[in-house]
Amino acid sequence: MENSTLTKSSILLLAAAILLLFLFPDLSTPSPPPSPVSCTNGITNNCTVTNAYGMFPDRSTCRALKVVYPTSEQELLQFVANATASKTKMKVVTRFSHSIPKLSCPGGSDGLVISTLNLDRVLNIDSTTMQITVESGVTVKALIEAAAEANLVIPYVPYWFGLTIGGLLSTGAHGSSLNGKGSAVHEYVTEMRLVTPAPADQNYATVKALKIGDPDLDATKVSLGVLGVISQVTLQLQPMFKRSLTFVTRNDSDLADQAVSFGYQHEFADLAWYPGQRKVLYRKDDRVPVNVSGNGAYDFIGFRPTATLAIQTYRFTEKIFETENDADGKCVYSQLITSTLAILAYGLTNNGLIFTGYPVIGYQNKMEASGGCAFRSKDGLLTACPWDPRIKGSSFFHQTTVSIPLDRVKEFILDLQKLRYLQPAALCGLELYGGVLMRYAKSSSAYLGKEADVLDFDFTYYRQVED
Ligand SMILES: Cc1cc2nc3c(=O)[nH]c(=O)nc-3n(C[C@H](O)[C@H](O)[C@H](O)COP(=O)(O)OP(=O)(O)OC[C@H]3O[C@@H](n4cnc5c(N)ncnc54)[C@H](O)[C@@H]3O)c2cc1C
Repeated sequence: MENSTLTKSSILLLAAAILLLFLFPDLSTPSPPPSPVSCTNGITNNCTVTNAYGMFPDRSTCRALKVVYPTSEQELLQFVANATASKTKMKVVTRFSHSIPKLSCPGGSDGLVISTLNLDRVLNIDSTTMQITVESGVTVKALIEAAAEANLVIPYVPYWFGLTIGGLLSTGAHGSSLNGKGSAVHEYVTEMRLVTPAPADQNYATVKALKIGDPDLDATKVSLGVLGVISQVTLQLQPMFKRSLTFVTRNDSDLADQAVSFGYQHEFADLAWYPGQRKVLYRKDDRVPVNVSGNGAYDFIGFRPTATLAIQTYRFTEKIFETENDADGKCVYSQLITSTLAILAYGLTNNGLIFTGYPVIGYQNKMEASGGCAFRSKDGLLTACPWDPRIKGSSFFHQTTVSIPLDRVKEFILDLQKLRYLQPAALCGLELYGGVLMRYAKSSSAYLGKEADVLDFDFTYYRQVED
């Protein structure tokens, strides 16, 4: 018994020490994530396709006969025409492929994957209409940077900027807000160009240009990649603004009553729930004018280039508790992690360098998303994104998200709390992945968009590497 306690204490001490390595974002230059496509015969034939985690949920290997890398809409049209003429199945794969589900697999082993890696140009920014037109492989990072150069911003985006505009639209990705049209990026699409298969008398492929008001746009702007290849997207931007963000931790006794009203109190509100600790991190985050003083930034710690040793230690420690079925150990570990993150203000700084206190006020383009680990040059994997599959013993997890209509949120939270009371330590594992992240999104006219105003609950948890 004493030995076991000693072992756990040592592990926690070691974990705490290694955790310090997380704190230094730039120990050295990190390695960018691997390509999701690798081919054995030359660089474009006999390929396997995966996601950024190196494993689909069903652990199957996805194969494709060929990958192509169009560099323009004209080339894309030709590739789609050739594949249509030869009745080849095709699917789009992106630069990093961050979706967990097997969405980019063309099926069988003789399909075609069309990569948007080289469709990465910002085509136009119209300052008068405040619209930006980009190719579909442009990342959220590049989109934010290009808009900011024109003193414009996209109001809501997913928090991780390593996504492409084509991929995030296809999956209906969002930030968190109940303001205006809500937090889903597809609500801000004004035009979209799509390359689709066509009959022989149209040379087997055609470009569909859809504008706001066209009913087909409701089908294509969230389409899981099955209605054609998005070539270009135009988005409505807004004038630059600042945000004022304060994180507040409270106990979760009134969470069921607070969760919905909190979403209406702050434009960029979200909640991170630590059910084992009975705590909730409330994000009080609002738009403020640009003349309010502050030059803060949010560079979320979990998305920074992280020392490989720290990644491995984190996983190693979690795995020990998992293997020993030690739920209490996980609870202690999660307290250590969450209190460390709180001390570090989760990656917020008041001036881009250090955190001096709340509120953190900064320009929208510096506050809305981050993801430095995806955008650096090679360093032989000394550092990486925590989930990089090339690292033995990297973070490996699954995520389940449920959208709960706002009028059912209270019951849902009460039900979860009842489960927690039955097994108080059982949900601590979720806290090792930032807790249950709760984000607001609004109902949409997009066919695959939200049917009602909702609170999305993200549950991220340990996944075993081997079967
Ligand atoms: C660290 C992290 C944080 C995240 N945070 C959020 C968040 O805050 N909010 C949120 O909603 N989601 C979030 N996600 C999930 C993410 O938004 C989705 O997984 C997103 O779809 C991934 O975009 P991608 O560019 O990697 O596309 P992929 O995963 O590569 O592709 C997704 C689908 O889109 C299709 N597709 C891609 N491009 C095109 C195109 N040009 N034409 C037609 N089809 C296309 C693909 O075929 C595939 O079916 C996060 C993911 C990660 C890894």
